[in-house]
Amino acid sequence: MSERQGLIIVHTGNGKGKTTAALGMGMRAWGQGFKVLVIQFIKGNWKYGELQAAEKMGPDFVIRQMGEGFIKNSTGEAMSEHQLAAEEALQAVQTEIFSDKWDMIILDEINYAVKFGLVPVEAVLELLEKKPPLLHLVLTGRDANAAIIDKADLVTEMKEIKHPYKKGIKAQAGIEF
Ligand code: ATP
Ligand code: MG
Repeated sequence: MSERQGLIIVHTGNGKGKTTAALGMGMRAWGQGFKVLVIQFIKGNWKYGELQAAEKMGPDFVIRQMGEGFIKNSTGEAMSEHQLAAEEALQAVQTEIFSDKWDMIILDEINYAVKFGLVPVEAVLELLEKKPPLLHLVLTGRDANAAIIDKADLVTEMKEIKHPYKKGIKAQAGIEF
């Protein structure tokens, strides 16, 4: 089947692989000549591997880091900084989605940003509703909102069976960053 249609894709769940699977999909799309943009909503762990890969891949595979570190334990002032950063990220997403520049946009950790109230779910749903029909949109992060799952065409839940951290094995280059 060759008819092109933009999909809404969600990677969620507690197991490792949500971001890596999205990047893999991005690489596959890039290989097809598509233009791919990754917007990271929550930065905070080292992901040098993909940043350097993206630089080598050139202008058709772009990673933009937005958002502010981990938010789990933030309160008060720190939280409003995250809020501001998330709002900026959302505005950037709106601009990019309607810019006609990209074939695939990966919104990394947006589910998490929604879960923690940094990004209103209504704003995301509106983007899903209005996105250009050929654009593939990938949303990653744990605890994806039910309404977002409902709108998606492809939803995968990563399930943890084992994770090396549980054995005390430290983050490995090429696997974690
Ligand atoms: P990755 O970026 O490796 O694909 P992810 O996007 O599925 O991971 P996140 O929720 O973004 O997972 O968490 C990122 C970090 O948390 C990674 O360093 C990952 O290895 C770690 N992590 C993911 N799942 C687990 C788990 N079940 N137990 C411990 N650490 C985990
Ligand atoms: Mg991730």
